[in-house]
Amino acid sequence: MLSDGWYSVGIHPWDTEQPVTLGQLRALVADVRSPRVVAVGEAGFDRLRGGDMVTQSRLFRLHAKLARKLGKPLVIHCVRAFDLLLGEARRMRPRPGEWIVHGFRGKPELARQLLAAGIDISLGEKHHPELPGDVIPPERLYRESDAAQI
Ligand SMILES: [Zn+2]
Repeated sequence: MLSDGWYSVGIHPWDTEQPVTLGQLRALVADVRSPRVVAVGEAGFDRLRGGDMVTQSRLFRLHAKLARKLGKPLVIHCVRAFDLLLGEARRMRPRPGEWIVHGFRGKPELARQLLAAGIDISLGEKHHPELPGDVIPPERLYRESDAAQI
């Protein structure tokens, strides 16, 4: 179980190469309810690694529903799959502060699309030089102390 400290809990898309077990899902659903868990994730989509996109999408929706139900932010890992993420956002209509894409390395135009879809943006050290600029409003900008895509 969870010991001291604050957690973000999720099943990473990289961990979907093997089928996700019922035990993993049960642990996720139980652990996210803990008051020590302040965010859900990472969850999301990665076209370069992990299981197929159907599996990743199903798992993403589960995380998104849990996060909304519990009122906790969802930390999103997204690599070469922003079309899928934007599709999910059109269905679920996240409010600012609800969904956060971490380690964003895309162009300003993509950042604008995400923001318009209700998705906030977190920048690591490596990101497009024109960001945040006047593209990402300060209240929807997050920063990461390292830029590792994990
Ligand atoms: Zn990640």
